Amino acid sequence: MVPQAGLEIDRISKRYGDVVALSDMTFEVRPGELFGFVGSNGAGKTTTMRIALGVLAADSGTVRWAGEPITLSTRRRFGYMPEERGLYPKMKVLDQLVYMARLHGLETNAAHRAAEDWIARLGLRERRSDEVQKLSLGNQQRVQLAAALVHDPEVLVLDEPFSGLDPVAVDVMSQVLKEKTASGIPVLFSSHQLDLVQRLCDRVGIINKGKMVACDTVDALRSGATAELVVHAPQ
Ligand code: ATP
Repeated sequence: MVPQAGLEIDRISKRYGDVVALSDMTFEVRPGELFGFVGSNGAGKTTTMRIALGVLAADSGTVRWAGEPITLSTRRRFGYMPEERGLYPKMKVLDQLVYMARLHGLETNAAHRAAEDWIARLGLRERRSDEVQKLSLGNQQRVQLAAALVHDPEVLVLDEPFSGLDPVAVDVMSQVLKEKTASGIPVLFSSHQLDLVQRLCDRVGIINKGKMVACDTVDALRSGATAELVVHAPQ
């Protein structure tokens, strides 16, 4: 059953020493929504995502999933694709994905089935026995996406998933994200590629210096007073 409430980021603030990374960041990624997060380097996107996932503590504010504050066990049900590659370079593709699935609680046979499914789905069959470090950057990105999806997460948070991808991989990734949202999963992703964000997203949040400065559908942002922000957001 698809929950009524999505991933709610409620008045999150965060400092790193003297640097104010986020102040009162508030938005919701609704069930079945593809939400694009744009902003210049250092705007606070990664910090927001890491707090949303529960891997970084906020100074104040709350994150809820399906109406409940997130906990350690909620985190296991999230899928995360970090901006920096979070893969083990010397591990083979299949082993990497089985390991990630096991880490998220799947038993061995189910982990193998899920890993093989995503390897096939993302066009990695010929690479399944290669070490991750031997793969092209685009293929490493596919493995990273598979690692985020292999345990069938309830929420997806993807930090710059499209960076460095060739057009075929962009299409594969876009299709996967659309399917996930069609099944009711909220997907939050950050990107510097405005054309992609505009083409794919149900809604877009524009963040500047740790604050959400606009949050709406692409059409509303284009036609409204915030159009200038969209035009001038980073490529
Ligand atoms: P990018 O697009 O470059 O990844 P971002 O929008 O994801 O940037 P964050 O990485 O969240 O932005 O950074 C927000 C602010 O917090 C920046 O000023 C950054 O320098 C600072 N910051 C991030 N992580 C740390 C840290 N571990 N220690 C100190 N300052 C940090």
